[in-house]
Amino acid sequence: MSATLETLPTTTNGLRDGAFGNATGLTCRECGYDVALGPHYACPECFGPLEVAYDFPDVTREQIEAGPANIWRYQALLPVPTDIEQSPNTEPGFTRLLKADNLGETLGIKNLWVKDDSTNPTNSFKDRVVACALSAAREFGSKVFACPSTGNLANAVAAAGARAGIKTVVFIPANLEHPKVVNSAVYTDSLVKVNGNYDDVNRLASEIAGEEEGWAFVNVNVRPYYAEGSKTLGFEIAEQLGWRLPDQIVIPVASGSQLTKVDKAFQELIKLGLVEEKPYKVYGAQATGCAPVATAYKEGSEIVRPVKPDTIAKSLAIGNPADAVYVLDICRRTGGAVEDISDDEVRAGILLLARTEGIFTETAGGTTVGVLKKLVETGQLDPNLETVVINTGMGLKTLDAVSDQVGAAATIDPSYDAFAATGLV
Ligand SMILES: *Cc1c(COP(=O)(O)O)cnc(C)c1O
Repeated sequence: MSATLETLPTTTNGLRDGAFGNATGLTCRECGYDVALGPHYACPECFGPLEVAYDFPDVTREQIEAGPANIWRYQALLPVPTDIEQSPNTEPGFTRLLKADNLGETLGIKNLWVKDDSTNPTNSFKDRVVACALSAAREFGSKVFACPSTGNLANAVAAAGARAGIKTVVFIPANLEHPKVVNSAVYTDSLVKVNGNYDDVNRLASEIAGEEEGWAFVNVNVRPYYAEGSKTLGFEIAEQLGWRLPDQIVIPVASGSQLTKVDKAFQELIKLGLVEEKPYKVYGAQATGCAPVATAYKEGSEIVRPVKPDTIAKSLAIGNPADAVYVLDICRRTGGAVEDISDDEVRAGILLLARTEGIFTETAGGTTVGVLKKLVETGQLDPNLETVVINTGMGLKTLDAVSDQVGAAATIDPSYDAFAATGLV
């Protein structure tokens, strides 16, 4: 970390005017120290994480609604230039918000919605964060677009880099699901498998970021810009509900970035007068095989102890989550919770969503839906309040999780009698 900091420029010299829209600088989340916009991610005073700060103009619902049907409709609320649409990008976002009455009825929840981010360009919510990171990397003149990834991020980085004409190098744990490997390798010939878990891959990426100039690691040295992309999930949910906030929201937790930024999005919408201020509860979802935040939550602890991940929910398998303490704070402060479920419950969650709503989610979504079920059953979530659950990924990437549990009802000769004999008539 420190090696990188010393070599970074500390001014905005060389940046295009308006390159970061209404963003005014970076502020330390721990000590409030302000840093100029640039490829910085750690506070020079206390090494706390830096977060993008803004001076928002008046933004109206009508202005946003007149924008494109992707995340750039919220350009004024992101650290990207007004002409962002002109630069080639994957144009993610504005995914479906589905009224999930069948799932709601099964779980006994009155008013339930699924925000379905599996339909993004590379089939996970990571296209949102990568689009914002790419914009920043471009403005910094980065030569290489890179990431350590649990799979989906590598897919999104490789695709976005290909479209933007920037060289990509993506790093993944060697034991990832095969479809996620192929989904990166089709876009880039610089996919690197690392013998180790995500936390090992992440450490390696930080080391390379410190050694190599001009490498933009989306979730390491341009992380403040990357993270802002997750706000668009919160903006869309509020807009699609008719410009209001839900009462409760359930969000999967890997590094915890998405959860903290959805909360930031809700706060910004309130501040801008785009939605009415109201209380809402934020819930985090983890798999028991990698549940450092849920464990700390249940222990009533402020300290999150790192774990060695062992779960089929590989896209959530971060043993040492960067934003863990902020997730704890948000879930406790809003009256939500952080809960975890077993791998069997993750599989059951995938099938439950598929068979009630026709949405095939990956293990991360199985985790979130399964945790939603557990939250209702344990009385932690109020079934009478309006609830949103986020589906962050696509089931075709984690087929193995359920392929043993589903299959053909019969294999028959092509005759009516053979079909009638199956009992399916
Ligand atoms: C990365 C990822 C998450 C969690 O993201 P964080 O912001 O790191 O907490 C959730 N779901 C899927 C499918 C992901 O790929």
